[in-house]
Amino acid sequence: MDSSAVYPRAVLNKLPAYQAGKPPVETPGLTPYKLASNENPYAPIKAATDAIVTAATATTVQRYPETTYADLRHLIGETYDVPVDDVTVGAGSLGIFTALVQTFAGTGEDGVEDEVIIPWRSFEAYPIVIRSAGASDIQVPLLDNGTHDLESMLSSINDRTRMIVLCTPNNPTGTVLTDQAVRDFLERVPEHILVVIDGAYLEFVRRDGVDNYLDFYREYPNVAVLRTFSKAHGLANLRVGYAVAPPQIARPLNTVLSAFPTSTLSAQAAYASLSNLDEVLDNTEKVVFERHRVWKALDELGYQPPVTEANFVWLPLGDKAEAFSDACDARALSVRAFAPEGVRVSIGEVEANDRLIQVATEFAQQHL
Ligand SMILES: *Cc1c(COP(=O)(O)O)cnc(C)c1O
Repeated sequence: MDSSAVYPRAVLNKLPAYQAGKPPVETPGLTPYKLASNENPYAPIKAATDAIVTAATATTVQRYPETTYADLRHLIGETYDVPVDDVTVGAGSLGIFTALVQTFAGTGEDGVEDEVIIPWRSFEAYPIVIRSAGASDIQVPLLDNGTHDLESMLSSINDRTRMIVLCTPNNPTGTVLTDQAVRDFLERVPEHILVVIDGAYLEFVRRDGVDNYLDFYREYPNVAVLRTFSKAHGLANLRVGYAVAPPQIARPLNTVLSAFPTSTLSAQAAYASLSNLDEVLDNTEKVVFERHRVWKALDELGYQPPVTEANFVWLPLGDKAEAFSDACDARALSVRAFAPEGVRVSIGEVEANDRLIQVATEFAQQHL
């Protein structure tokens, strides 16, 4: 090693690189569409964008934010009927997730890595965050139908397990865990293990038997539920998410969380959006309608997409994933290939979805 150079911690050699969704390839005559990052294709509601403008005054931006985000937390508490002290606001739900991992998992004093059980494939940020913290991610493969293998997750628990992550709807498969499935699972998890339920896409769920998982936070002292303003609320750029968790989780979490995780502009936009939750939920109908249309077309073409409850569909294309992604690139659509498993396609504007179905139709004729 060159002793005159700085060098990162050894653990960084073990990190997979986070691949942000790439922009679509420019193609003459075609409007490019990004279907690679599960963003909301529609603008946030007007109340939210108005709030940003109102908040964007010199006297606001020159000062640090009010660190407790009291107004937003009160509104979240009122909206979901939870005590305000149990609500923690952060820089997106990923900011909260990162702080939670740093709070509850790392390398123990004996030099042994704590274990965090995650479903896999799932949100690709999980392994990066967990390994960065010095802990070890235990990846439990999904069942063939794209859902969590809860039995295998339970049997992966051992003395070193500190955390378990449930991602529902799961990114990238879109499958959801019913309340009953989560309850049966939690009944069998020892209470010293933190269970994080990442509900980033909950507003898009239409399946019966799924509420918002907050009952589990109320019933089990080891449950934290994560929500975000990035997806249904359409505020991804503003970085606002939150955890609902009991004091034994929220208190230490707050000592780790950075002092000013998000801006006043962001907090006020989130406040305005949540104040008009009915309007936000009405807007999800457009995405849900398009999701069904896209899913049905892909299903009829033989892609066998799992039933999705999120704003994206999963095509389990195996080693054809890369070729499908290339075919989309050629038509100015960027999608997300996870070779050699499959391709995740976000639901976008109607024209983008039409084009995706067209590409998929041509691809199916040649490859399926
Ligand atoms: C998009 C996404 C998030 C949201 O991240 P933010 O930091 O809130 O933007 C969280 N979890 C999953 C599984 C996601 O797909």
